[in-house]
Amino acid sequence: MERKEKLIELTNVSQVFGTSSDSLHVIQNIDLSIYQQEFVCVVGPSGCGKSTLLKMIAGFLTPTLGECHMSGELITGPDKRRGVVFQSPTLYPWLTVEANVAYGLKIGRLPKKEQEERVNYYLTEVGLLEFKKRYPFELSGGMKQRVAIGRTLVNHPELILMDEPFSALDAITRVGMQEMLRKIWKEKEQTIFMITHDIEEALKLGTRILVMSKNPGVIISEFETNYTEKISLNKTYHPEEDQDFQKDKLKLFELIS
Ligand code: ADP
Ligand code: MG
Repeated sequence: MERKEKLIELTNVSQVFGTSSDSLHVIQNIDLSIYQQEFVCVVGPSGCGKSTLLKMIAGFLTPTLGECHMSGELITGPDKRRGVVFQSPTLYPWLTVEANVAYGLKIGRLPKKEQEERVNYYLTEVGLLEFKKRYPFELSGGMKQRVAIGRTLVNHPELILMDEPFSALDAITRVGMQEMLRKIWKEKEQTIFMITHDIEEALKLGTRILVMSKNPGVIISEFETNYTEKISLNKTYHPEEDQDFQKDKLKLFELIS
């Protein structure tokens, strides 16, 4: 993949929790750049600092040392240019699907007609247009997660940050969601940074895989992949039947365990 413009730059970033006498070095000296239109997938053992890394990029956490920049600007807090999707969606239970998705646009005072158009567009993308008048309690887990993704995309963030967004879903729903995300990523030329504990998911979606290790939390390996391109370009291509895919899977498994 040709390198586009640099969107995110982390320089010598560390995160230390606790006091000086009782401190936990969660992230240690990470340097990382994310380029436009990349789909970066992060894998690593539980507790190695994946979520902490995502929260620093999102601007929810300030690094103890080092700096995070977006398009050359220091990240000092959350910003609507960075949309975040967590594992368990927190929708407003008193709002319909449509109103949940429109929420950010309403706050941003986008004209009504544009709000409606955008909301309908993204509800179609996530396959929920016919459910727009429903309330969260009427939806399955997968549908709620799709609302959460639609609600993030509708604001046109430059970067989408996702923390294990599909891990609470059953296997079949998860595959459908992966396809939807790949399609949106291709169509909208989005930049995505996604954490997953599912090695196959990382290989099937990512254009680059980062592998993190625990104590200290560092990136121990990273490589580019193109299975996601192959899957979207060729309907008869099945990564499971590809020896390289199986080799990469084994390599990742060994790196993590
Ligand atoms: P991962 O997402 O890879 O499972 P996390 O980034 O959530 O890991 O957490 C990494 C480590 O940092 C864990 O040991 C966790 O308990 C600790 N940790 C995370 N957030 C905080 C916090 N706000 N205060 C103290 N310790 C934290
Ligand atoms: Mg986590």
